[in-house]
Amino acid sequence: MKKTTGTDRSITRSWRPATQAVRGGTWRSEHGETSEALFLSSGFTYDDAQTVADRFTGEAQGMTYSRLQNPTVAMLEERIALLEGADACRAQASGMAAMTTALLCQLSAGDHIVGARAAFGSCRWLLDSLLPRFGIETSVIDATDSAAWEAAIRPNTKVFFFETPANPTLDVVDLEYVCGLARAHGITSVVDNAFATSALQRPLDFGADVVAYSATKLMDGQGRVLAGAVCGSDQFINEVLLPFQRNTGPNLSPFNAWVVLKGLETLDLRARRQSENALAVGRFVESRMDQAGGLIMHPGLPSHPQHDLALRQMAMTGPIFAFDVGSRARAFAVLDALELVDISNNIGDARSLLCHPASTTHANMGDEARAEMGITEGMLRINIGLEDPLDVIDDLARAFDRAGI
Ligand SMILES: *Cc1c(COP(=O)(O)O)cnc(C)c1O
Repeated sequence: MKKTTGTDRSITRSWRPATQAVRGGTWRSEHGETSEALFLSSGFTYDDAQTVADRFTGEAQGMTYSRLQNPTVAMLEERIALLEGADACRAQASGMAAMTTALLCQLSAGDHIVGARAAFGSCRWLLDSLLPRFGIETSVIDATDSAAWEAAIRPNTKVFFFETPANPTLDVVDLEYVCGLARAHGITSVVDNAFATSALQRPLDFGADVVAYSATKLMDGQGRVLAGAVCGSDQFINEVLLPFQRNTGPNLSPFNAWVVLKGLETLDLRARRQSENALAVGRFVESRMDQAGGLIMHPGLPSHPQHDLALRQMAMTGPIFAFDVGSRARAFAVLDALELVDISNNIGDARSLLCHPASTTHANMGDEARAEMGITEGMLRINIGLEDPLDVIDDLARAFDRAGI
């Protein structure tokens, strides 16, 4: 493997994000292929015994086994790190493998973690169910309330963990304040950046320590594979995360890494176009919600309580928003009347997808936790894709009419 172009890291590191998205981290084999090669190999062979011995001690660079390193996965890791402005990145098999790895690699019994109460259902399960089983104390707070972060700090607090914008309520968290507070107390901030990706928001620029991803969402962007990634300093990734990952094996398959590499080539285009489309559709939904007395949660609209903050820390506000049509019956009536938008709980896809969080992604957390998070029975969460937004608006208008909204 060699790099036929881009061998000078001082130059490749200075490329701008749109360039990194198509070229960052590319390695080429002796064939000089244009597109990244897919190395579907679990193991590697060696010319002699000393070579493999040197690789296992770390004295020589090179592949040994795909749980430890794989060329296709390594290309994806380097590309994501470059896009994120991080020293290093490691890819995992899914977003939840990434979140679990990012937390368990650094927490021990007796430590304390503060997490945002509005979060992806499985992220809440880590805080509410998994970590306490291993003697890790957890506090769950309203992440939009800056004073709540400070009030939650204990002498044994090790980690702050939150999403922004959050799934599915679109809460926006003040990255600069919360990550700065973490730094001042020697706490590691872990930001789940799945809703935005580096194309729209770079948490490290605002002082975050670790950025964790479901790459299943906007990074793949075409609804094909599960993938995850964790980015951070060389010290965190290589000394804290890597020993955990290499020995527990939540690794990404080379095939899925290759699919996400192809997805990244168009990430910037998709994230921007989908954000534009989501604003157009959001303005329409807001006008219908105003007439019907419903609410809309869209960080790109001035009606969102943290609209100004969203514009300060995001280049654009992303493809996802939520709205409340008043009851489960009306929400189901809207879903059942769709002709173009699909009923689906995925997000970040090039297709527009609508889902009812209370009966799907956040069904298993219990009524009380749902109410506390602000997930109502009438809430619908939409991902706006790359279709013409006028067709999506027509479809929603027809569905609202049929549902009597
Ligand atoms: C989807 C999602 C996850 C989990 O990712 P998977 O790839 O489905 O495991 C975690 N956090 C957020 C914010 C998500 O949207």
